[in-house]
Amino acid sequence: MLAYPDFYIDGAWQRPASTSAIDVRSAATEDVIGRVAAGTADDVDRAVRAARRACDTHWGHTTPGERADWLDRLAAGLKARQADVARTIAMEVGCPITMSTSVQAGLPIVVTQQFAELARTFVFEHEVGNSLIAREPWGVVGAITPWNYPLHQIMAKVAPALAAGCTVVLKPSEIAPLNACLLAEVCLEVGLPAGVLNIVHGTGPVVGEALVTHPAIDMVSFTGSLLAGRRIGALTGERIVKCTLELGGKSACVILDDAPFDKAVAHGVKNAMLNSGQTCSAWTRMLVPRARRDDAVALASATLQTLALGDPLDPATRLGPLVSARQRERVLGFIARGRAEGATLVAGGGAAEGFARGHYVAPTIFADVSPSSTVAQEEIFGPVLSILSYDTDDDAVAIANGTIYGLGGGVWSGDPGRALRVARRLRTGQVDINGGRFNARAPFGGYKMSGLGREFGTHGFEEFLQVKAMQR
Ligand code: NAD
Repeated sequence: MLAYPDFYIDGAWQRPASTSAIDVRSAATEDVIGRVAAGTADDVDRAVRAARRACDTHWGHTTPGERADWLDRLAAGLKARQADVARTIAMEVGCPITMSTSVQAGLPIVVTQQFAELARTFVFEHEVGNSLIAREPWGVVGAITPWNYPLHQIMAKVAPALAAGCTVVLKPSEIAPLNACLLAEVCLEVGLPAGVLNIVHGTGPVVGEALVTHPAIDMVSFTGSLLAGRRIGALTGERIVKCTLELGGKSACVILDDAPFDKAVAHGVKNAMLNSGQTCSAWTRMLVPRARRDDAVALASATLQTLALGDPLDPATRLGPLVSARQRERVLGFIARGRAEGATLVAGGGAAEGFARGHYVAPTIFADVSPSSTVAQEEIFGPVLSILSYDTDDDAVAIANGTIYGLGGGVWSGDPGRALRVARRLRTGQVDINGGRFNARAPFGGYKMSGLGREFGTHGFEEFLQVKAMQR
């Protein structure tokens, strides 16, 4: 049992204003595995004041090189705790341990190192005519993060913010908060200066909104659902406070008629099922030429058979349970809706058999899905893939673009030029061509209702920098 009764504020563990607590449950056993304090507006105020002080008196005036050295120390600290982080996230999220080790615990280390490198190499000032253009830290950042890739989402904000000279008050997801407690321990171990990062746990409406509306916050960086993003966008808009939003997705994998079909379908299924489908950029819609519908169904079902569903702590597991009972019910509701709306059920279709405990859902594939149906339009955030048939390339592009979202996507073709032409027509922030690998230095973010702004790489870094022009 990991119990964290205090908050990491101003460089130390501090007693919360209230004694309320939030239990954290294992996704696989449903047992209580940890507890964090539930914060209030008073805790947020204390944390924001500490961040403000640190920003104004110290951190905002450090050199990029000094900040890069601190990020390197944080990365080394996270590396030393990688196994703990991986195990913790495997339990609180249900992510299989193999992936939890490489992605959930591994990526934050890489991303932190990359922002250290960027701080050292970024050109903060340049001249245009008689103007000196300077990039300055945006200030105090309120960061609010979700549970699906919890530490990755946290470091996607904390690392560039710190590299830019900003200070941060973080509100992690209340569903998977324990990894953020490990981050606080790392900050204490490496001796990160007081107030540079502060962490207050709690619910969105209480701690999240107190953070977003605090007068000393200069910027909000949010990752989560469209619903919460809308609310946060409205609250920050009211005060003209900068806000970046990383929201949901309904990404399409477009398999063209000359694609390496077996490879494309297998890759597409694995992408859709990553982290049991609890991935914002997952290719939850597979678009196949109408003539290849039967091949796609057979290949997709065969691929699904290779993904072992089981205990997230077992290294052989490829699919774990969903994060919570609520998420499981939500996903089962969408599956029932898909059946009711007339899609053909190819695999799965309900709760997974053989699990007395844990939030397991049978990985599910629908075919003959209508582009306008609920399962083709709404973000399900579970192991559910919809196969849609199309007639022409134009038709495929129209279906791919035919949702409110625009986060990720894939295009497969034997002709790289044709694949690129189709990729250019997709209204999404990312497109992987013929299985192009994830690149943590590339900007990530959404078109349309998938969000505003970008994370990672130079674009993600620049979100945390103001621009000043001085004429001489
Ligand atoms: P969520 O919106 O329920 O919660 C996200 C965070 O926002 C949590 O910390 C929560 O406590 C907080 N929150 C909720 N309501 C709030 C409010 N009114 N004011 C302030 N804070 C509030 O989302 P979730 O269920 O944790 O995560 C899943 C969602 O996140 C999915 O929609 C997924 O697509 C999205 N997501 C997007 C990205 C991306 O980069 N685009 C990455 C991961 C997840």
